[in-house]
Amino acid sequence: MGKSFTLGEFLKTYSSDYDCLKEIVNIKYPDGIFCKKCKVIIHHCLLKTRPVLSCSKCYSQTYPLKGTIFAHSTTPLKFWFYTFFVMIHSKGGISAKGLQRQLGVTYKTSFRMLHKIRSLMADNSGDLFKGVVEVDETWVGGKSWLRGKKWWSDWKEIPKTTVMGFVERGGRVRTTIIDDTSRWTLTKHIKANIDPKATVMSDQHHGYQKLDQDGYEHHSVNHSVHYVDKYDKTIHTQTIEGFWSQLKRGIVGTYRHVSPKYLQNYCDEFGFRYGNRKSEDQFMILLGKI
Ligand SMILES: [Zn+2]
Repeated sequence: MGKSFTLGEFLKTYSSDYDCLKEIVNIKYPDGIFCKKCKVIIHHCLLKTRPVLSCSKCYSQTYPLKGTIFAHSTTPLKFWFYTFFVMIHSKGGISAKGLQRQLGVTYKTSFRMLHKIRSLMADNSGDLFKGVVEVDETWVGGKSWLRGKKWWSDWKEIPKTTVMGFVERGGRVRTTIIDDTSRWTLTKHIKANIDPKATVMSDQHHGYQKLDQDGYEHHSVNHSVHYVDKYDKTIHTQTIEGFWSQLKRGIVGTYRHVSPKYLQNYCDEFGFRYGNRKSEDQFMILLGKI
């Protein structure tokens, strides 16, 4: 399923829960289904009435939804699939309120669905970013940030949260919420996310200025003077800045505000779309993570 797939084509392909279930079975068992009783990979029949696979020889049952985000859900699978599609194809995401209206489910259901899907979008691979990696941190939240009020007036209501981000140029983005911007904290996260052989680009925040001592090739750009290094145009943090603005526009435009509790989930959602922007198969990538 490529990016070029229209909503119409999508709905036609996944018009019933059975169609969705068939797709899930294809994804979960690419090498066939193993029957525990027969102790062999063997043809199974997918029941029409329940999400159950039945061994064609001994009839023992396998549950394809077990262990997936759909496991205990009573929401139709085609609703879930539709939500995957919408989340991938809308730049700023979709609000729980908006999804509730489109699907006719309760707010609680749409809210839960969106968060479950966001949890799939997180990059938990743990592998280190390579090549040229931009690193930066930003603040998200705070009432002022939304309404232009003076930040000290009532910022406690929606506290500001600091997000640290990493962008592999031409590749993925990963974010993490941090408690402070001390050198110790920033370095700890850099080591957890960036390959020691990578080249790191940052601004001149003091927390980044000793990275060469940790073995990184490090360049920084002085943002109070210019955004791209005057002599070496490859030295900049424009990519991560671009991601921040996309994230903030999305949160303000779609979600109004995001509580710190869920901020990581939203960052993961935007990170997923960003990191897979060049992929024709975002839907399948996401479905592969269930
Ligand atoms: Zn069997």
